[in-house]
Amino acid sequence: MKNNALITGGAGFLGSYLCQRLLHSGLKVFCLDNLITGSLKNIIQLKNDKNFEFIKHDISKQIVIKDKISFILHFASPASPVDYLKYPIQTLKVGSLGTHNALGIAKEKKARFLLASTSEVYGDPLMHPQNEDYWGNVNCIGPRGVYDEAKRFAEAITMAYHRVHKVDTRIVRIFNTYGPRMRKNDGRAIPNFISQAIRNKPLTVYGKGLQTRSFCYVDDLIEGIWRLINSDTNLPVNIGNPDEMCLVDLAKHIIRISQSKSKIEYRKLPIDDPKQRRPDISRAKKYLKWQAGVALEDGLIRTIEWFRQN
Ligand code: NAD
Ligand code: UDP
Repeated sequence: MKNNALITGGAGFLGSYLCQRLLHSGLKVFCLDNLITGSLKNIIQLKNDKNFEFIKHDISKQIVIKDKISFILHFASPASPVDYLKYPIQTLKVGSLGTHNALGIAKEKKARFLLASTSEVYGDPLMHPQNEDYWGNVNCIGPRGVYDEAKRFAEAITMAYHRVHKVDTRIVRIFNTYGPRMRKNDGRAIPNFISQAIRNKPLTVYGKGLQTRSFCYVDDLIEGIWRLINSDTNLPVNIGNPDEMCLVDLAKHIIRISQSKSKIEYRKLPIDDPKQRRPDISRAKKYLKWQAGVALEDGLIRTIEWFRQN
């Protein structure tokens, strides 16, 4: 009999790649999503696969699933700062109630559970690069707190279910990931800059653009997550590309690669925007034998091409 997987947030950017990856690995996939920030367009190519089933549901509300489930990948949550500022309560609910519900299913079905956590659990980090032992620097009452604290709670309840109910859990702390299928208007730096550059509009760099991020191409991330699911590591694992750069340099790269005539325009820096971010991936290297392989230049070329065609 086939193993079944439940992917919450499966119609989102990352979730849709995971649906594909798990189907190709021979699993039957239940993709659960309320489409708050996702889209059926992301999974259109899977819709006729007999091993794929879409369930429209808000995971913050309970759901009874009759089928056997062997793996649960809990990816449901608004993820872009623009999205979680637009949906602050939904973000807090999906990180807390949604994670509780997903863990409840994992406990009942004796399924392996993987939580999509984030580098945002480190907040505006005082340790650089960030390793998994760093506890973070989060402003719990600031605008980003709705996402950061929801994910911190999600990690806490995941570890509690692991310790108390012996659920077989994994936690991936995802660092900024990009690629085809990101929404043009999701507000994150790469989709914003690419949409602006291919229209020869000004690229909106926030603050002086000296804040740093480290961008990982989606294929690398999915490979890391696949290895984590198949490992026996219950502790959180950073998955990201340590190639760090400041945002103004990213904007310049995108202008150059897309041969755009755009200029850069500086805008107000959002409150609590982390000043620096780079993953320490020693744990992923040691336990998963994983590291990112796609250079930023190559990933941007593929993503720009997709944005031009869609
Ligand atoms: P996304 O917005 O494209 O995908 C999120 C999906 O979750 C969407 O399809 C949305 O409709 C769905 N969703 C949200 N709330 C839901 C609910 N209550 N019930 C059911 N479905 C719900 O974002 P993404 O970039 O694909 O992020 C996916 C996950 O990965 C999120 O949990 C996010 O926190 C995490 N993550 C992503 C990144 C990144 O760089 N892309 C970085 C860190 C963490
Ligand atoms: N940013 C920017 N211009 C934009 C969108 C984002 O300068 O149009 C900056 C943002 O202030 C942050 C960085 O790019 O410093 C990454 O933002 P993103 O929303 O992609 O992800 P974050 O890492 O903040 O969650």
